Amino acid sequence: MEWLATHTSEASASNLIPMTHDSIAAGPLRLGGREVPLVGPVRIYSCGITPYDVTHLGHAATFVWVDTLTRALRHSGLEVLLTRNITDVDDVLTAAALRAGAPYDEFAAMQQYRFDRDMSDLHVRRPDFEPRAHQNIDAVIRLAEVLLSVGAAYERNGTVYFRGGEVPARNALSREVALAACARFGENPDDPQKEDALDVPVWRASAADDPSWPSPWGPGRPGWHAECTAMVLRTFGSSLDIHAGGADLAFPHHAYEAAQAEAATGVAPFARAWMHVGTVMVDGEKMAKSTGNLVLVSDLLEGHRAAALRLLLTDRPWAAPWEFTMAGLDIAEGQLDSLHAAAGRRGGSETAVAAISAALLDDLDVPRALGIALEEGGQAARLVARVLALD
Ligand SMILES: [Zn+2]
Repeated sequence: MEWLATHTSEASASNLIPMTHDSIAAGPLRLGGREVPLVGPVRIYSCGITPYDVTHLGHAATFVWVDTLTRALRHSGLEVLLTRNITDVDDVLTAAALRAGAPYDEFAAMQQYRFDRDMSDLHVRRPDFEPRAHQNIDAVIRLAEVLLSVGAAYERNGTVYFRGGEVPARNALSREVALAACARFGENPDDPQKEDALDVPVWRASAADDPSWPSPWGPGRPGWHAECTAMVLRTFGSSLDIHAGGADLAFPHHAYEAAQAEAATGVAPFARAWMHVGTVMVDGEKMAKSTGNLVLVSDLLEGHRAAALRLLLTDRPWAAPWEFTMAGLDIAEGQLDSLHAAAGRRGGSETAVAAISAALLDDLDVPRALGIALEEGGQAARLVARVLALD
């Protein structure tokens, strides 16, 4: 009986401490200041790249933050399913391929390879699903058919338009601001075929030089927003938990994606939470090809550690725009050394470890987690280094 008593008490003791440092239930996720209760699997969709040019730091910031989100959720014991698409049917890609004298799909594959290499160098884990627009043409056609059948779309000369008149109000934007944003993203509000300037193509009739696929409305190609709508619906069904992307995608891209999905499925909200990652600026301007101020990941990694770059990208509120400087990257290198030195110390209390886990789920508060790690050292610092891929 004595043996049995001891054995039982040992067994129950081990049952009472099922949580390890790799799996700590640190409470519900807060994202964008709102609680997002999650049971799992957590369905996350991140708008991926249009593979027409090299990866710059502005893109990388979004993907490193999404990677940080998935790492924090997995650390808390949740199963995560991440989808990151590839927008390989797009007019900017077609134009870039034409300039390079290459077929658009071969051109896209080459850019994709470079992107994958950059992500791998930054220790960004591969997504669970990586749908490509050109492999989801049938899903876009089906989406267009459903939107037509419920009266949310109409067809004109081979193009199927989604009725977007209500989209600005759903996003607390005036019609004027929304139209200006649509024009900036090439939505052509002046297209005379549209019933409303805020309508957007779900399916577009293709000209001779454009990629095209057969459809019930003649040869054409998908509209930009519809590609992502269709890829989310195909991957996750009618809704998802967290939709991520750069802040500039909030409108019109994500707003129209959600409106199309909800019109087609009747399920709302399409996304339970949004993660719009803050824009990276250089000398006060958004980092963009058109501005000519691109900072390339591959260039930065020639003289700096990937972990230092990750630290620079994430040691800040994820939604806030910020200014990149080389001096900032040097400071991050120093901080990384401090973290590694702290990780080599003894100690780091259980309380500190739990506080770090809680900070990561509290709007991905990396600065707070890092502060605790540097102060406490030991296992607390090792935890931050491991979970945030800073080791
Ligand atoms: Zn998208």
